[in-house]
Amino acid sequence: MDYYSSQITNLIEELSKLPGIGSKSAQRLAFHIINMPAEQVNRLSSAITEAKSNIQYCRECCTLTDRELCPICSSEKRDHSTIMVVENTRDLAAYEKTGRYDGVYHVLHGAISPMLGIGPKDIRLTELMQRLQGDVKEVIIATNSSLEGETTAMYISKLVKPTGIKVSRIASGVPVGGDLEYIDEVTLLRAGGAHRTITVELRN
Ligand code: ZN
Repeated sequence: MDYYSSQITNLIEELSKLPGIGSKSAQRLAFHIINMPAEQVNRLSSAITEAKSNIQYCRECCTLTDRELCPICSSEKRDHSTIMVVENTRDLAAYEKTGRYDGVYHVLHGAISPMLGIGPKDIRLTELMQRLQGDVKEVIIATNSSLEGETTAMYISKLVKPTGIKVSRIASGVPVGGDLEYIDEVTLLRAGGAHRTITVELRN
């Protein structure tokens, strides 16, 4: 039933489509927005539309950026022969904050999840494989330690192995599967730096 005028209902419906926003939160936000000064509402809406129209995927690493080539990919100081594969731009930012990685990244924008119907074609794997045809010496897989992250890591490992490029996996400092072989400990820290991470070489 339409308790409110159709425009308010429309606003509530649009807000409730956002992740983590239930119908109650959507109503609360809608009325908050309606009570905001017009100027503030304009700033909010233009921030959304400008970000949407200017933000694009970096043509090299697929991270979100407002340039054709992101600052990391366009930097000469970075080692372009080492690619760290992460699930999303937030993970990239977390590794960047450690200040200890000087390679480049590849952002998948997701992870393989048969449960959610997300397959290899739904994440940026084709772009990764295209990059590997260039001068790449190492791929470091830094997907999350969730089931999806591990599935994705295994999948990528199997894709990369035949190319002869070194593949390693960054996992949080927890026991890893029997098919993983420790090679060394690295100084990379997870976001927040609470625990150390290890790199392990993946075997097929
Ligand atoms: Zn980039």
